[in-house]
Amino acid sequence: MNVYDSEQIEKLLAPSGYKINSSFEAADLIIVNTCAIREKAEQKVFSFLGRLADLKRKRPNLIIGVGGCVAQQEGKKIPERMPHVDLVFGTHAINRLPYLIEKIEAERCKLVDIEMSEVIEELESVIESSLDRSDPKVTSFVTIMRGCDNFCTYCVVPYVRGRETSRFPESIVNEVKCLVKSGVQEVTLLGQNVNSYGKKEKLNSFPQLLARVNEIDGLFRIRFTTSHPKDLSDDLVSAFKNMDKLCNHIHLPVQSGSNKILKKMNRKYSRELYLEKIDKLRNNCPDIAVTSDIIVGFPGETKADFEETLDLIKEVEFDGIFAFKYSDRPNVPAARFTNKIAEQEKKDRLQALLNLQECFTTKKNRALIGTNELVLVEGLSKKKVDRDDAQSKCRYVQWTGRTETNKVVNFIQDEGVIPGDRISKGKIVNVKIEKAYSHSLSGKSVQRFERRTKLCCLKLA
Ligand code: SF4
Repeated sequence: MNVYDSEQIEKLLAPSGYKINSSFEAADLIIVNTCAIREKAEQKVFSFLGRLADLKRKRPNLIIGVGGCVAQQEGKKIPERMPHVDLVFGTHAINRLPYLIEKIEAERCKLVDIEMSEVIEELESVIESSLDRSDPKVTSFVTIMRGCDNFCTYCVVPYVRGRETSRFPESIVNEVKCLVKSGVQEVTLLGQNVNSYGKKEKLNSFPQLLARVNEIDGLFRIRFTTSHPKDLSDDLVSAFKNMDKLCNHIHLPVQSGSNKILKKMNRKYSRELYLEKIDKLRNNCPDIAVTSDIIVGFPGETKADFEETLDLIKEVEFDGIFAFKYSDRPNVPAARFTNKIAEQEKKDRLQALLNLQECFTTKKNRALIGTNELVLVEGLSKKKVDRDDAQSKCRYVQWTGRTETNKVVNFIQDEGVIPGDRISKGKIVNVKIEKAYSHSLSGKSVQRFERRTKLCCLKLA
């Protein structure tokens, strides 16, 4: 969500003449887009802001702004603690950013705007193709809704991003069409709980929205995140079979394998219901990749509760997980729960869980060795590779991209198989997987993928 917001900020400030620059020293404006989901992320914000104080002393005209969830949560406390900060803007104030910056430029004042609204202001006038990008994007996020109504007891999102509000399907479809026109081939539809898209406003359901996006010419892949297990509908399960552009991957956060802890988290589903949904997904789409989020050390989590989470991991065999130690967030109910778990115990549990999951991730990745995977090329990999050719040892550039199941693949071009057909960013390439690691795969391109026809064959097979 923050990556998407940062992209929106870039688009909004482009008409005022601002362009992204990687050097803080040369920048006229520095915007720190923040995350409050975990304590560590929040600490990093303040330590980073502290480091900017020197820069501001040397260049008093530099404007420093803080946006995102920490800005929303802390408001005017930020400039009180960090007087070199000029602007604090909340999660609903992004659209007002050009006006806020203009005001600071003209009046050299300090501003705090953390007002929240019930409607999502559209940014239709600011389109991707209007940006002068030296390196056009092939994948992009598109937010379809904002906020959350679920109030999981550990989570700050409903407080810092507000109540759940969905965008109109027409605006979403238009945004995707604009992105496709600018060269984007894969979109990830974003929401805190995409499964409840449009319910409150009685718009299209999420599967209906997916069907509309699936119709867009020139778009190659659709992904979405995040799904709440309690709202995963049978229609969405069927979409994985019926929609040719929808990738075979779902991120379905389980958070814990213990019913007692799920209840304390206010997740509104049981371990049994979660497992039932996984079965449905796999029965409908056997090669679907499933990833998840897990919190360890939630208040009151006993060793037996934690064992239930490990058991669930063994039962599901996720393709990957994001696991975190529980940390108190301001004002959420869980911060007031008793029976907090000691830091060392949380660390040990996290390590045990990650070790277990690594076996499954590696096992799933190894199963792909020898198969051909369709990869959308996202660019050059940072690393070059040495390989033994028939005559000598050669150094090759590596390309990087993702499979339909969202696994990172680094690969080299096999010159023999595709004479003259150079790989470039945005191409879809058939890659033979040769090696598997815990977080990526590597291989060699084997033939060019011809867009439409072969994708249809693949889906019907
Ligand atoms: S559904 Fe997700 S975003 Fe919403 S409160 Fe729960 S954890 Fe937070």
